[in-house]
Amino acid sequence: MINCDLGMSKPFDIEIERLTGQPTYSEAGLSVSARQRGTFFLETFGCQMNDHDSEKVAGLLLSRGYQQVETPEAASMILYNTCSIREKAAQKVFSRLGEYREKQSEGKVIGVLGCVAQQEGEDIFKRAPWVSLVCGSASYSKLPEMLAQLEAGNPRVTGLDTDTDDTFETEVTRRDNPWRAYLTIIEGCDKACSYCVVPFTRGPERSRASDSILREVRQLAELGYSEVQLLGQTVNSYADPTARRMRFSELLLAVADVEGIRRVRFTTSHPSDFTRDIVEAIEKEAKVCDHVHLPVQSGSTRVLRAMQRTYSREQYLEKIAVIRAAKRPIGITTDIIVGFPGETESEFEETLSLLEEVQYDGMFSFKYSPRPNTPSLSMSDSISEQEKGRRLAVLQDKQREIQAAKHASLLGEHFEVLVSGKSRRENQWTGYTTSHRMINFTSQERELLGTYVHVKVTGATPNSLVGEHAV
Ligand code: SAM
Ligand code: SF4
Repeated sequence: MINCDLGMSKPFDIEIERLTGQPTYSEAGLSVSARQRGTFFLETFGCQMNDHDSEKVAGLLLSRGYQQVETPEAASMILYNTCSIREKAAQKVFSRLGEYREKQSEGKVIGVLGCVAQQEGEDIFKRAPWVSLVCGSASYSKLPEMLAQLEAGNPRVTGLDTDTDDTFETEVTRRDNPWRAYLTIIEGCDKACSYCVVPFTRGPERSRASDSILREVRQLAELGYSEVQLLGQTVNSYADPTARRMRFSELLLAVADVEGIRRVRFTTSHPSDFTRDIVEAIEKEAKVCDHVHLPVQSGSTRVLRAMQRTYSREQYLEKIAVIRAAKRPIGITTDIIVGFPGETESEFEETLSLLEEVQYDGMFSFKYSPRPNTPSLSMSDSISEQEKGRRLAVLQDKQREIQAAKHASLLGEHFEVLVSGKSRRENQWTGYTTSHRMINFTSQERELLGTYVHVKVTGATPNSLVGEHAV
């Protein structure tokens, strides 16, 4: 799901040589082109879409002869791909930039990419004059020109357009995960939720051509990827720009049909565009994962209207009923905001009762954060931080209870797991089921990373399952 962790993503070593035909990470013995072009360090804040944008930015730089390094100290260019969805996220970027103030005097180029770049624009140069590059996510397709300007010695370069029909496609994407490949199929957002910066920072909705998506999926399968996650802020609003006019549900099936692909995920779905044919695709094709992330934001129709979410509580519940009626059980997760301006105690309780009614398999929850350029900024943010914190804690307690009971009911069941991590503790592995439950399990096998295994559930916590490899 598109989550909003602010952590820095740590790259796996995926042998980039396979993708670019160039060596990487060898700071001692840089290739000739890297010595000419330089090296870059890229840190990412925010959601999976930002992670994936960074993978594409890294691919683009590598294909132009830059070399990726693991520390800012080793880099000639330091890039931050930023998130501004909540105030704290944006603040974090400026404190990080402050840490690298001295680096400019060492001749390093410092660049800000992503949502904070789009939101703050040239003001970044005033707050952090040591920055040379400011590029919003809707302008990434212009990055090559911007890099050329930097190379020509231009001290300040910006890319801040949002009025583009382009999607950001690259010849080379430097993917961080060797098994699950992210693939953006729709960029930007045409919804206008009153609290959200995304339509401003990522620009209008642009869908990628279905033939180009399928071509990339075939390449991914050839490279050994078996799981593909289709991304978009409203992934199910996908509108194929080609004459083929492939529906989103058809695209899911077409991706699943590519030889070598075993799992197809998609996130985030918008409730208003969530149609029955998506459930039918999941029913029909086992490779389309049995998981839907369907953010509700609030259980109160009045608050939903104030949020401009374009559906009522009842309409949302009708979508849930369609998903629950599927022949194959489908996991449902959600996002919720507490303390939206004017949210009363009884409206908050409607959100609690919605949790009770839907019985979500997982939830991301946030305190409302007023953001620049959003309509809700003009509404009085009447609920104190303390009260928002209390509501968040009550909500999370409720969801923890629901998940604990759900997970306990799975004891003894068997699941197929894609193994994605190995613990430092001996014989301990971790991975995800098709419905995106995390499971930590024991196995005596020496190497399981990237393989699919069957695991029997032997224990449960509210956030994950515990199991053992069933041979
Ligand atoms: N497009 C997705 C959708 O419609 O649900 C959401 C994308 S946003 C990156 C992820 C989540 O951040 C949202 O679902 C919402 O819960 C939360 N969020 C967005 N703006 C927020 C704000 N101003 N304050 C608090 N949470 C916010
Ligand atoms: Fe933001 Fe709403 Fe668009 Fe999601 S659908 S990205 S919450 S405006």
